[in-house]
Amino acid sequence: MSSQIVRLRTLHGELDGCRACPKMIGPVVHGPAVLSKVILVGQAPGPREGSFGRPFAWTAGKTLFRWFEESMGIGEEDFRARVYIAAVARCFPGKASGGGDRKPDFEEIARCRTFLEREVAIQKPELVLAVGSLAITEVLGKEVAGKKLDAIVGRVFRTRWHDVDVDVVPLPHPSGASPWHKMEPGKTLLGQALAQVKRHPAMRDVLKRKAS
Ligand code: SF4
Repeated sequence: MSSQIVRLRTLHGELDGCRACPKMIGPVVHGPAVLSKVILVGQAPGPREGSFGRPFAWTAGKTLFRWFEESMGIGEEDFRARVYIAAVARCFPGKASGGGDRKPDFEEIARCRTFLEREVAIQKPELVLAVGSLAITEVLGKEVAGKKLDAIVGRVFRTRWHDVDVDVVPLPHPSGASPWHKMEPGKTLLGQALAQVKRHPAMRDVLKRKAS
């Protein structure tokens, strides 16, 4: 077993025991300890993911994995086995007063960032798929501050993230909460973003390994 896998498993053990955020609802949700040059960063688990014990296990995940299957021919289980799935926060934040899931607050994001930072140090990714506005802001920061999805999705950003140089492809959140990706210009921009992912060398490597 490689030292990176050992470090990831140790980190996952710490994540499993984390109760640092009083408003968060457990259990902690994370994917398996797979080594990958491609990292997907989501927002936070929803109410169902905890019982399935994996991220994107419910309706948003169905849409997300359909995007990858239709655009690059990789099925959900292959994707999960070859791309490392992380998130801005790893616990369900609960419901917001106006409906929908509560967004993790500043302190919760800062606490959970310590895990994300260590995952980046272990994986040294080449490509980051940032899913949804919160994850996009977490990875790209000031570069996208105040910008709408229309100006961000469909582009590839080069940035330094936790001391690693990465290409970042922003994607909209696949939850039904926002219809952005179902209407123009969102549909076209999402298609462009997925095409960018498919032709990135790190993703090509993931897809090649799937076929072998
Ligand atoms: S959100 Fe992150 S930091 Fe907060 S309790 Fe869950 S795992 Fe710990």
